[in-house]
Amino acid sequence: MNILVINAGSSSLKYQLYNMNDESVLAKGRVERIGMESSILTHEVDDRPEVREVSEILEHTTAVRKVLDMLTNKRFGVLGSIEDIQAVGHRIVHGGESFKQSVLINDEVKLEIKKLFDLAPLHNPAHMMGILAVEANLPNVPQAVVFDTAFHQTMPKSSYLYAIPMVLYNKHKIRRYGFHGTSHDYVSQQAALFLGKPIEELKIVSCHIGNGASCTAIMHGKSYDTSMGMTPLEGLMMGTRSGDLDPAIVPYTIGKEDLTLNEVNSMLNKHSGLMAISGISSDMREIVQAMEDGNESARLAFEMYAYRIRKYIGAYAAAMNGIDVILFTAGVGENSAPLREKVCEGLTFLGIELDTERNKVRSGETRRIAKDGSKVEVLVVPTNEELLIARDTYRLLTTSSESN
Ligand code: ADP
Repeated sequence: MNILVINAGSSSLKYQLYNMNDESVLAKGRVERIGMESSILTHEVDDRPEVREVSEILEHTTAVRKVLDMLTNKRFGVLGSIEDIQAVGHRIVHGGESFKQSVLINDEVKLEIKKLFDLAPLHNPAHMMGILAVEANLPNVPQAVVFDTAFHQTMPKSSYLYAIPMVLYNKHKIRRYGFHGTSHDYVSQQAALFLGKPIEELKIVSCHIGNGASCTAIMHGKSYDTSMGMTPLEGLMMGTRSGDLDPAIVPYTIGKEDLTLNEVNSMLNKHSGLMAISGISSDMREIVQAMEDGNESARLAFEMYAYRIRKYIGAYAAAMNGIDVILFTAGVGENSAPLREKVCEGLTFLGIELDTERNKVRSGETRRIAKDGSKVEVLVVPTNEELLIARDTYRLLTTSSESN
């Protein structure tokens, strides 16, 4: 069975085509600048050179058609015809409280996703355009949706409620939802497999550290608490996001700097974090380089960034009354040995002992970076959200056809 995984943004659409017999990626690519002049489709198959096609793609239906044309193209394609695509899986950022797991799309599901537009105004409408675009091009192909928030729906009330008037939760569903759920779910399962232990027996702190970053306390396979909140702004310091801060700073800044609410929102999301403190970059590679060159602002940014992660690990060890595994994933988590070392530096009291040599070894595989005998396992686990979306789509299809 071939499954096409789609991640639709407002002006972009990423895709990966999986052969689920062996979970291999047949092709992948992205369309950028949808709705603008000279849109770009980039397409990759194995080790062959990347194909780039520039054309005018004004909306998502055309983008999906171009992707399908490329997948079936005689020279660059991998499929005989579009009939060879048996299902499509979509990434959806916000599933609110309505979606506790992935589901197959029907009219009711589409209506429910529309109701959630308010909670993720930048993401969910774009995902819906992706769904409708696939529907227009492949009307008879089943589609599934996989939510970034769904994995966190197991959090208890004491983790997800904010200490503000309950009417705000009851009327507007203002609460912690958490994000990166697909990744935290996937990497925690991979960690359990790697250790050869049932996930139900493990207390894991999963650190997804990329451009956006979040820590999740995963108790016995279920999300118990997570650092991102109602939106992805809360929690860790990120590339350009502030993470946690005193909410009173917002009205105070508006008053002192004569800014609008939108400007402060944009400051906290786009001009804070590593970028703001270092004054150099939001990219951890450049921060580490500058730090090594003696830049003190870069050092401060690096230390603040690591310190936040360490605080969350400590908090979640307390929340779960113990910790068996810490895992690092995503762009920074998988690649930055200095960052992992700095995070683990102050955690020896929890029984976390990093092996600094193992930590430096680069590999694309799941690996152990703790010392032999460390009470707590420390792992690097490459994330693969697309594969989990493909697996969920496959599972939903095969179980629904069995029960029909
Ligand atoms: P996104 O949140 O956009 O999915 P990723 O998980 O792809 O982000 O992470 C992207 C970030 O990973 C980059 O901004 C960069 O800071 C970081 N990164 C990638 N490679 C390295 C590396 N070798 N060392 C340190 N950081 C890296």
